[in-house]
Amino acid sequence: MTHRLTTLLSSETIAARVKELGAEIAKAYSGKKLVLIVILKGSFLFAADLCRAIELRDLRVDFLGVRSYGEGTETSGVVQITQDLSRPIEGEDVLIVEDIVDTGLTLLHLTDLLRTRGPRSVAVCALLKKPTRARTAVDIDYLGFTIDDEFVVGYGLDVGERYRNLPYIAMVERD
Ligand code: 5GP
Repeated sequence: MTHRLTTLLSSETIAARVKELGAEIAKAYSGKKLVLIVILKGSFLFAADLCRAIELRDLRVDFLGVRSYGEGTETSGVVQITQDLSRPIEGEDVLIVEDIVDTGLTLLHLTDLLRTRGPRSVAVCALLKKPTRARTAVDIDYLGFTIDDEFVVGYGLDVGERYRNLPYIAMVERD
């Protein structure tokens, strides 16, 4: 299957916003220890750039592998953990790094799960948000961009595991 891709956010636009987010996060956590929890797979590129934009000496990075049930372009919000964190987060300040929030159900599930492990605080940084579809109220503490209700790929995001390697974010249409 071929897809028609239209650039929505260029790599330069993304890089500039990621720098701003990093500076905001560094300021907010100044003098504290921070654990970035990267939600795989979609957030891997965003997190790689974001963590280098956060000037904190005491920053740890951990990964949480998540798979949404269902193969389509809609999430059910029911997520399966495919890879757990490598260390406990009890008493830690954690920041979830998520690629995109659509209904917010995935994020709600993840914040609930992480809170059961006794962290000192849980905050969320998402690169993208689709506002029109927000079914669940989830607080996003640091947000990159609000986009329209389009299916997007690139910069870590896929359709059928393709296009994660694009350095920009594109809207996808099926031919
Ligand atoms: P939610 O639970 O908020 O409805 O969905 C969030 C998850 O659905 C994201 O982490 C992502 O995996 C997937 N998702 C939602 N919208 C898009 C999109 O436009 N493109 C891609 N590639 N994945 C999306």
